[in-house]
Amino acid sequence: MGKLELKTGVEFIKGVGPSRAELLQQELGIFTVSDLIHSYPFRYVDKTEITLIKDIKEDGQNVQCYLEIIRLEKVKGKRQARLSVMSKDASGFLELVWFKGVNWILKYLVEGGNYLVYGKVSIFKGKKTIVHPEMERIENQESIKKKVSLSPVYSSTEKLNARKLDSKAQSKIIEQALSSLSAKAIPETLPDYLIKKLRLVAKKTALINIHKPKTTEDLEQAKKRLKFEEIFFMQLRLLYNKELRKKKLISFPFEKVGEHFHNFYKNNLGFELTNAQKRVLKEIRKDLSQNTQMNRLLQGDVGSGKTIVAVMSMLLAIDNGYQTCLMAPTEILAQQHYSGITEICAGLGIQIAFLSGSIKGNKRKEILKLLKQGDIHILIGTHALIEPTVEFKKLGLAIIDEQHRFGVMQRYRLWKKNEDHPPHILVMTATPIPRTLALTLYGDLDVSVIDEMPPGRKDIQTIHRRETHRAQVIEFMHKEIEKGRQIYIVFPLIEESETLDLNNLMSGYDELRIFFPPPKFQISVVHGRMKPKDKEMEMNRFASNKAHIMVATTVIEVGVNVPNASVMIVENTERFGLSQLHQLRGRVGRGAEQSYCILMTGVKLSKEGRKRVETMVETNDGFKIAEVDLKMRGAGNIEGTQQSGTIQFNLFNIVADNAMVAPTRNIAIKVLESDPELGHIDNAMLLQELKRQLKRHEDLGRVS
Ligand code: ADP
Ligand code: MG
Repeated sequence: MGKLELKTGVEFIKGVGPSRAELLQQELGIFTVSDLIHSYPFRYVDKTEITLIKDIKEDGQNVQCYLEIIRLEKVKGKRQARLSVMSKDASGFLELVWFKGVNWILKYLVEGGNYLVYGKVSIFKGKKTIVHPEMERIENQESIKKKVSLSPVYSSTEKLNARKLDSKAQSKIIEQALSSLSAKAIPETLPDYLIKKLRLVAKKTALINIHKPKTTEDLEQAKKRLKFEEIFFMQLRLLYNKELRKKKLISFPFEKVGEHFHNFYKNNLGFELTNAQKRVLKEIRKDLSQNTQMNRLLQGDVGSGKTIVAVMSMLLAIDNGYQTCLMAPTEILAQQHYSGITEICAGLGIQIAFLSGSIKGNKRKEILKLLKQGDIHILIGTHALIEPTVEFKKLGLAIIDEQHRFGVMQRYRLWKKNEDHPPHILVMTATPIPRTLALTLYGDLDVSVIDEMPPGRKDIQTIHRRETHRAQVIEFMHKEIEKGRQIYIVFPLIEESETLDLNNLMSGYDELRIFFPPPKFQISVVHGRMKPKDKEMEMNRFASNKAHIMVATTVIEVGVNVPNASVMIVENTERFGLSQLHQLRGRVGRGAEQSYCILMTGVKLSKEGRKRVETMVETNDGFKIAEVDLKMRGAGNIEGTQQSGTIQFNLFNIVADNAMVAPTRNIAIKVLESDPELGHIDNAMLLQELKRQLKRHEDLGRVS
């Protein structure tokens, strides 16, 4: 058999063969030698030390000992025989026991033999025992030194275990692969100057040591190198794409600020923009005035006034003869945008239309026709907007609200709405994203941040109340309603059982009716199972102040705007994530009145539940909350990171290693600044690896 290459199929590794290769593919997604050696252990068992029996103190401790067998005994049990082996070292005695594979292991053990033994000790009444230990016979004391190591543990599955591809077997195969790779098979991916400057180990060394570290120091060095590489190339990719797009993606320059914009500013706005809004608008205007495509992320806390910024950007597009659209993740939110924007644009003489899955038949046909003729200026809706049948005459600007609910793919499909040039894109997030995460998720976008709230807002008071305080909460609600305020009560959505949710919500509703009886008190109900029409009717009842209380599931989470509502009560708070809670709280505090958020929980709270509640009570700052959320849940669970597909790291962990992101990005920026095309000979390997990765990611940013 010839030497292996990285792209060689795993079946060609000695001892693997076609059928086990197939299993590795199916179970672990490992196809090539490269896949195999890049699938790292998820933990290591520390076998660097040999413990004396007398030093074993803890029940359940994993230990490695060097022992001599003094007696082997097969003991007949009720159901099966067991093997009891007495062993010793210079400090004491230890019993080794097998219940399974007794005859097989007996062949391997001899009285008087010396073994390196590894396993989990149980201590019962002072007697130390290891059940099913790993045994390796070593007579030569000297050779023990070579044996002690950090043993890698690989992920495995039942199927793999059954077919002798457990962690240990994988380790052997990887070792085999690494030693059979030809000398040049693992190319260095980082140029010398970076390796020297950052004191990294070579790629090949790192790969060998991540699988078979001899010391913890080796392992740390290997991890450092491989993590750096992961985050570095990701940033390089994002930045490279961003530059490429800037150079190649011709879009529509919005050269003038016209009468729609001016009239709106003069007659419709009704308040002074905050400095943050002005700054962000300037950034957007600058982008839009150029003939390269804008790709900008607009971040701002709930209620910071992103919508106005979006509207004014749309007016710029219209002033320059283009159509624009606004896509929101839910029907309710899209509806709210539609009615809100229609209202604030009154008298400007622009045509605004709404489109969602529920708009059907002739109405839909009519909208699509007008859109294609260019007679609709602003189209607002759900992801119905990206369907192929939706054709614009001249789409100049597409705005996506609450981006984290859409995948990157959807962003891309909006680009494609014009045949010749892509429209400018403005993405708005409602949930603030920690900076490190933003750099990884949206590193290819320019970012604007609204970090200032409109004036006159009172901070929402957040209060934690347990079930035992229900009576006081009801009393408080009565007082607020007397003052003319309105109240939201939100029930959690339990994904496994929609019926249970509904029961939960309905019994909450029934209970409320006892304390807030009709006709004096009106309660509206909104949940995910209602028909859009009914939902809308109930929403409107609340929005128009006909209902005092709105009982809802999280369908109201995003964007709903009822300024007169001043109390948000969250039921079963422990069931909500932090960012969700922050979103919910953002539903109140929109008017001039003092607003409250009451977090109801049971009497007992889990540690995490308490941390979430405490965080909410402590701060109103969405960015701070996002940081805590990220730390508590890890990136994989942050909404949007999964479908975005951007975060696929092997080793790098966006939470634990977040301090690496910004400096690494800066290094990538410097490299590209001094050599934008990576054409310099020193950067040849960067370019090669980058190209490989771009191809693998089939990057959406790739221009073809
Ligand atoms: P979000 O950023 O959550 O989308 P919105 O755009 O919905 O926030 O704005 C929340 C509320 O604040 C709206 O009622 C809006 O009219 C109002 N608002 C926005 N900007 C200002 C401002 N500069 N001054 C006063 N009120 C503002
Ligand atoms: Mg909004």
